[in-house]
Amino acid sequence: MRRFWLLLAIAAVVAPSPAAAEWHAREAAIMGTRIEVEAWHEDADLAAAALAAVIAEMHRVDALMSHYKPESELSRINAQAAEGPVKVQPELAALVARALEVSALSDGAFDITYASVGYLYDYRAQQRPTAGEIAAGLPAVNWRHVEVDLAAATVRYARAGVRIDLGGIAKGYAVDRGIHILEQHGIRHGTVTAGGDSRILGDRRGRPWLVGIRHPDDRARVIARIPLVDAALSTSGDYERYFDEDGTRYHHIINPATGRSAGALRSVTIIGANATLTDGLSTSVFVLGPERGMALVERLGDVDAVLVTSDGRVLYSSGLAPR
Ligand code: ADP
Ligand code: MG
Repeated sequence: MRRFWLLLAIAAVVAPSPAAAEWHAREAAIMGTRIEVEAWHEDADLAAAALAAVIAEMHRVDALMSHYKPESELSRINAQAAEGPVKVQPELAALVARALEVSALSDGAFDITYASVGYLYDYRAQQRPTAGEIAAGLPAVNWRHVEVDLAAATVRYARAGVRIDLGGIAKGYAVDRGIHILEQHGIRHGTVTAGGDSRILGDRRGRPWLVGIRHPDDRARVIARIPLVDAALSTSGDYERYFDEDGTRYHHIINPATGRSAGALRSVTIIGANATLTDGLSTSVFVLGPERGMALVERLGDVDAVLVTSDGRVLYSSGLAPR
């Protein structure tokens, strides 16, 4: 897998292909972000049905996992799991378990219980918790407080005050679901994107897809273009949800150890086999910072990374390093 995108990275000029009639695309606003789906198929009706099924799936995942929706299963966990095991759909229990695995991998940098403090931030209203409020909430931030029973499909919290939020992994999961649905429809070339999380199915009919990584301060500027075939790519940045106050940026990626925004990086892009993993890892590496973050990427081996540091350096993992 890694070998494949390396080869492509070396392959010389990659010209954009002319829009062909067999390419079909749809956009929607779901999960608080922009969803884009593209698919190639000779049969326009089949392609349209596939795109519609992907959009429907995004709505389904959103309804299950949104923390904005009080009737979602996720909200029910947060309301009841400190009192005892809460029965949920096996799919949700499995994703919570997957999030806990990323916590173990990242030494707790990825932690869905960040929300025990994270809910005190309101980026739109430019509100943040006081030092006292953070200190009061921090003991509830620990992924080991979350107990999942996969056989029974239950989630339980070991103590009161715990909240979880799947914002660091749910979009990647939804993208993986979308690709699965394209495949089920017989699509062999396509892409699914949810905000900063994308996955690519096949190639772009004989050439790789070129995915651009944007400059943290300028949406129109691209710092790197990565050729991809059958791969997922996730970017986490400090420019997605934030406010600036007295020269400090308060943004949506929270270091679980401090309850405050992680500061050493501007953006993290992870490339790997599936978007659930690259989504979880992009948030993880953002929290870990350049040294520990890159060490995790190199240790895992089957993922690559492009980091933009706070002092403006662009760092590549060894699998991507320009030679
Ligand atoms: P984006 O949502 O812009 O794609 P990320 O994938 O990095 O960016 O996810 C950021 C989201 O992850 C936050 O909005 C929040 O919901 C959640 N989050 C923040 N900090 C953490 C953390 N330390 N561990 C797990 N999830 C987190
Ligand atoms: Mg992420």
